[in-house]
Amino acid sequence: MKIICIGRNYADHVRELHNTAGGPDGLPTEPVFFLKPDTALLRNNDPFYIPSFSRDLHYECELVVRINRVGKCIEERFAHRYYDEVGLGIDFTARDLQREAIAKGLPWERAKGFDHSAALSPEFIPLAELGGDVQRLHFELAINGQVRQQGDTSQMLFGVNRLISYISQYITLKIGDLLYTGTPVGVGPVHPGDNLRATLEGRTLLDFDIR
Ligand code: MG
Repeated sequence: MKIICIGRNYADHVRELHNTAGGPDGLPTEPVFFLKPDTALLRNNDPFYIPSFSRDLHYECELVVRINRVGKCIEERFAHRYYDEVGLGIDFTARDLQREAIAKGLPWERAKGFDHSAALSPEFIPLAELGGDVQRLHFELAINGQVRQQGDTSQMLFGVNRLISYISQYITLKIGDLLYTGTPVGVGPVHPGDNLRATLEGRTLLDFDIR
């Protein structure tokens, strides 16, 4: 099982981080992806412990798609056959280490792939139960009861089927692989004692504490 994460997939989030890579408007001209190891998973709404190596640990709430077929070089028009349920995740990011890596042109793994950096909802919901269109889903993250991120999958720069097609040109997708599809605007730091609660179409999927 592997965890594939998309960066810079919502325009407002790209702008909030002042990213300049990509096209003239700062937006990527093709998908940006990176991997997290399976040791990054944080399951069952277990608490997240802020690692000692970061002074600026951020949450990024994301729609997660679970792959249910093996596929390589998948055409975009067939990509919908490779998933049928969705959940939510938090792509925890050591923003200070990531900024350093970006400035030096280095990989992001140290900032993104550390243990427990990929919180995953215990429950996945059949897409059919949510109306069947992966690009028409609303999700929200609240911290200590205050909404911080509101995502609408219609706002993705690259839709799920395009992402699956693109990634599978390079990496074979396997059953159980997880695709974190990028975060909307509103990222920020977490602090010990915070509670993170995330809903997908009004259903609470994540509810856990920071320590
Ligand atoms: Mg992310």
